[in-house]
Amino acid sequence: MATGKYPYLAVMTFNELGLSEAILRAVTEHGYTTPTPIQMQAIPAVLAGGDLLAGAQTGTGKTAGFTLPILHRLSTSVNAPNGTTAQRPIRTLILTPTRELAAQVEESVRTYGKYVKLTSTVIFGGVGINPQIKLLKHGVDILVATPGRLLDHMQQGTVNLNHVEILVLDEADRMLDMGFIRDIKRILAVLPKKRQNLLFSATFSDEIKALADGLLNSPAMIEVARRNSTVEIIAQKIHPVDRDRKHPLLAHLIKTNQWSQVLVFTRTKHGANKLVDQLAKDDITGLAIHGNKSQSARTKALAEFKSGSLQVLVATDIAARGIDIDQLPHVVNYDLPNIPEDYVHRIGRTGRAGATGEAVSLVCVDEHGMLKDIERLIKRALPQEVIAGFEPDPNARAQPVQLRSGNGNGGRGGRPQTQGRSVAAKSATSPAAKPQGYARPRTGNSTAKPAAPHRSGGRGR
Ligand code: AMP
Repeated sequence: MATGKYPYLAVMTFNELGLSEAILRAVTEHGYTTPTPIQMQAIPAVLAGGDLLAGAQTGTGKTAGFTLPILHRLSTSVNAPNGTTAQRPIRTLILTPTRELAAQVEESVRTYGKYVKLTSTVIFGGVGINPQIKLLKHGVDILVATPGRLLDHMQQGTVNLNHVEILVLDEADRMLDMGFIRDIKRILAVLPKKRQNLLFSATFSDEIKALADGLLNSPAMIEVARRNSTVEIIAQKIHPVDRDRKHPLLAHLIKTNQWSQVLVFTRTKHGANKLVDQLAKDDITGLAIHGNKSQSARTKALAEFKSGSLQVLVATDIAARGIDIDQLPHVVNYDLPNIPEDYVHRIGRTGRAGATGEAVSLVCVDEHGMLKDIERLIKRALPQEVIAGFEPDPNARAQPVQLRSGNGNGGRGGRPQTQGRSVAAKSATSPAAKPQGYARPRTGNSTAKPAAPHRSGGRGR
């Protein structure tokens, strides 16, 4: 028998993976019945205790892929907490590129670890450091952190990483892309030499390969379905439209289709704010999340959106990284991303873990080059549909577009601001784990060399 969602893999249940009863109970309660392909491969590999190099992007179920076996190992090993009041050392460190992803990973740790006696906490910048110091002092088994704030704690001597048994680098490509490599190396330098290392990355650039070579010891290598096959379950459509008609078209689509939960991407923070104001005039409630928003505003917007009380969430690319909403029905590219890989990340917010979704892109004459780059990357032409009343002017001439504005994460690093490919994408020609699906075709109109990643001197740590 084959599973509906993953017909190419024999059916396997969570019970067959060797996880403890306490963990299985939490998984069942959470409503999972079948492990995803990355889980089928990663869980036994991590349980075996060796290092792991995994090619997986968000939306594949990778978080449970590493969280479940880590919880199993920590709760069943000889070092498992024995009920004494002695301070608990940090035994697992999970590093993520963004605050949102860190928060979500820690939430998963809590969900799946509901019935085991382990504690966890999350630390990231943009919020007060003192409550974090208090929690760390109390002791936690699993620490999820963004690199910048963790370094702050290391410098202040408020975190002790001497007992880390398992290290996870989640979305390692994104961390490098955002300029975190030096921070990561400084963190690695203080960890015990003997430990288990798990590296997850959606892409395999030379930089990732070098990091993996220095970090991993005879790793198990796994990869899940090609990036493109994730895209295939998502209905994608282009609506050609004039530049200054995008906002009325979006309002029209939301109203006539009665979309109740829409994630909208803009290229710039300014564009996100402006769109929220414009939608408000049409009685459509939206909030923006980007790097200039306080962490509490970002968290609040995300919580409202997830709960269904906020109709439209407008996000820039980096701020949206890690947004995980089950079965998000609609993603709109209000602007196309100038980095083609970001298109795949964006639409990966819908149709997650086998659910179907719809992604529409509003494309004006300025963005035809970007559209070509995206179609080349995903190896297919996207269907186009002109909406009546919004026909684009056939004589319109392209103008230069404003590209991404600065560091949208609020972390320490930034990404290149030139039109062109990301640093990671530039060198993604020699896969570490031979993940064939990750080699990318050359893009056509991107001859500009990316600038060195901008570092923002500790802003938002
Ligand atoms: P991730 O790739 O870890 O961000 O997970 C993507 C989404 O898939 C999340 O919404 C998870 O809750 C969901 N998910 C993870 N594992 C499973 C599973 N075995 N069955 C169904 N959904 C899952």
